[in-house]
Amino acid sequence: MAKTGTIVIDPGHGGQVEVGDSSANNAISASGVLEKNITLRMAFLVREQLLSIAAAEGHQLIILLTRESDVNLGLAARAKVAKTNKANLFLSIHCNASIGHNARGTETLISPVTDGNTNHLADKAFAQLIQNAVFNTIKSHDVNARDRGVKDQSLGVLKDKHLGTTTRACLVELEFIDVKAVDILLNIGPNSPQVRTNIANAIARTLVESLE
Ligand SMILES: [Zn+2]
Repeated sequence: MAKTGTIVIDPGHGGQVEVGDSSANNAISASGVLEKNITLRMAFLVREQLLSIAAAEGHQLIILLTRESDVNLGLAARAKVAKTNKANLFLSIHCNASIGHNARGTETLISPVTDGNTNHLADKAFAQLIQNAVFNTIKSHDVNARDRGVKDQSLGVLKDKHLGTTTRACLVELEFIDVKAVDILLNIGPNSPQVRTNIANAIARTLVESLE
């Protein structure tokens, strides 16, 4: 069945300075690749896969990225792209890191009810599908993948007051890029372009399926 909808993809971070609680960069991979560049590249790949699926299956999609270059914008401004465009879905893409550089796994975050999230259940269902898509893809390439699940977390980019109450929204932390094995898997290994494409395809397929 052909679907219609507006999807906003938010590549985390960007630029050189903090803007409205959005830091220029957070995680850095074991070989020095910056999270802000990984998130932008993944957003481009997801859009490419969405356009390809839409063309093949006749879906009418409006796909918006909150940024398309190495610039930063505030967390509220990112969310407002969804509100302004009455988006059905909002997906923020990030990567993780840990103090001991030894944590692994994929997790997806949603705005808690205590943060004024009026469509928490819908967000949770959407987030679980995104979580499954990313985790299962990474698992298919790496036995050390770990499913950290869907979690409530208060984040400016996910607040309904900025997003609008009808947009389903979540933030996926793809993996912990400060781990060498993850860096090889996602960024610098010979198979990393294929892994990235597979993750983007799984996300894009989930986004299309999540449209009503
Ligand atoms: Zn981040």
